[in-house]
Amino acid sequence: MTLENIIHMNTGDGESSYANNSLIQENGIQQAVPFLKQSIKGLVNHDVFNDCFTVADLGCSSGKNTLLVASNIINTVHEVCQENDRKMPQFQVCLNDLFGNDFNSIFKLLPDFYEKLMSDKGESFGPCFVSAVPGSFYGRLFPDQSLHLVHSANSNHWLSQVPQGLENNGLNICMAKTSPLDVYQAYGKQFHIDFTKFLQMRSEEVVRGGSMILTFLARSTVDPSKDDCCALLELLGQSLVDMAKEGMLRDSDINSFNVPLYLPCEDEVRKIIEYEGSFSLENINGFKLNWDPYDTYYTNTYDSNELSQIHAENITKLMRAILEPLLISHFGDSIIDVIFKKFVKLVAKYLTKKKPRSLFVTISLTKT
Ligand code: SAH
Repeated sequence: MTLENIIHMNTGDGESSYANNSLIQENGIQQAVPFLKQSIKGLVNHDVFNDCFTVADLGCSSGKNTLLVASNIINTVHEVCQENDRKMPQFQVCLNDLFGNDFNSIFKLLPDFYEKLMSDKGESFGPCFVSAVPGSFYGRLFPDQSLHLVHSANSNHWLSQVPQGLENNGLNICMAKTSPLDVYQAYGKQFHIDFTKFLQMRSEEVVRGGSMILTFLARSTVDPSKDDCCALLELLGQSLVDMAKEGMLRDSDINSFNVPLYLPCEDEVRKIIEYEGSFSLENINGFKLNWDPYDTYYTNTYDSNELSQIHAENITKLMRAILEPLLISHFGDSIIDVIFKKFVKLVAKYLTKKKPRSLFVTISLTKT
């Protein structure tokens, strides 16, 4: 099965669902709002759209974050149009994700969403048409020159495939500190191919003068071995290795598993945008968020035993909501609980020594 049929976040609204464990991503979405406003001002001032404003949210997942993005965009367009004494457009909001995404859960949230729009904005608002567009954002999703704004949050770090050439990665499951150079190169090359493709596809779909706002995970150093960006995945890998030592898994099962996630550094992102050439980079803004979004002791460089346990449990829920389907597709579902029981302990222990934060970047681009 190809990755685009496997990757999806945990569905529904239960305890392990993405919907209930995506606060860090929500915080990332909110950090992008000032850039969204700046871009939308540009779209209004340059008359990039007329009667209908068409926006796509790529990698929308399901849960409250999905419609939060749509609301942020609609509210901002509303505000900017009012400031400029301009008639409100109609809205077409296209929600994209891969085929396994829980679109049904989004649809069930729509009646309340439409009702709130009407009551907040008044009877003359809209209308707003929300639709779902399943498919990979590494391919074409929309007709030529049909989008005014593309938004994507927390998604561009997902690669289209596990990079080729990871044979020397041993029992690592990601770009780990102990990975050899050729593994870093293979991951970097795959990101280069994928992000270039992403820009090429959108350059066909976005109108001239249109905008893109992308927020994704990144790393702070050029040399990946000097950064803690993949520390959580390394701890997940350690959980698997411990299970292999206890005879629950074979080393060969771990050898053949690598997570298709890549955290680029700013410089790489800039270079790919420049090289691809269809978009100009307006802004690039890095920000850090605590691994546990409920952890407010940001200044601590390590945790007490008690706090580390609480934070590790929250972090584990978040990681499980994201990675469970991928892990099940490779290892089966019988060992999932054990993986995360081991993981929570390793994370708690780690936090008593060190508390790195995740780096995100938001970039805003204009189609030239
Ligand atoms: N935007 C949401 C969800 C982020 S999770 C939020 O910020 O909360 C990342 C999402 O990207 C997942 O739902 C995953 O299925 C989706 N994704 C990953 N690769 C993708 C691809 N190639 N095409 C479309 N969606 C993709």
